[in-house]
Amino acid sequence: MKSIIFIAPPAAGKGTHSELLKKKFGYLHISTGNLLREIIATASTLGREVKNIITRGDLVPDEIVIEILGKKLEEIKGKPFIIDGFPRTLPQAEMLNEFLEKEKINYQVIYLDLSEDVAIERALSRLTCECGKTYNLSDDKFKPKKENICDVCGKKLIKRTDDNELSFRVRYNVFMDNMKPILDFYREKNKLKIINVNRASESVQEDIFEVIK
Ligand code: AMP
Repeated sequence: MKSIIFIAPPAAGKGTHSELLKKKFGYLHISTGNLLREIIATASTLGREVKNIITRGDLVPDEIVIEILGKKLEEIKGKPFIIDGFPRTLPQAEMLNEFLEKEKINYQVIYLDLSEDVAIERALSRLTCECGKTYNLSDDKFKPKKENICDVCGKKLIKRTDDNELSFRVRYNVFMDNMKPILDFYREKNKLKIINVNRASESVQEDIFEVIK
């Protein structure tokens, strides 16, 4: 089974698609955003630093993210995985490439292409749970069964501190500024597939299955 690297602007649904693929095919799902939020939850000095950066909508420095992802990849060696949220810079792509080549991992990069307007609408209506499950009030399919309560663990849903219009615009622009060299990097390796996600999630999912089969 091919491992998958999802590259996508914020709120494009990389977390949601990763979870569906995890359930259907048994992938391990690594989200650098979730790993960073776990560090924030420890309330350490590093956690406070990361929280400020994420709340502003900026990128966490490469050295921190690369170290966190490197540790995770060592832990899960040998199992097919989905990486969501990494790489976000060229040095991150180079680090990941070194690992993939060293371990001879077959992989596919999928870019989920989403317009800024649709992305912002989705981000502003997104709710998350501590357990990692994400909901979206803009679409009946992604609403929780009970208002504000997680279907999976029953906890109260929260709004991510970076899902507000100001930090969302920063995140979207930071993403777009960094994305081009990363896409070129994978295009040159003939590893890039682009999927338009300005449409219903079922048809997006079908296209993803087609690409990874
Ligand atoms: P996400 O959950 O993927 O939307 O990530 C939330 C935030 O975590 C981003 O806006 C960044 O501040 C930070 N982050 C996640 N992944 C990375 C990464 N690969 N490099 C730098 N910052 C990251």
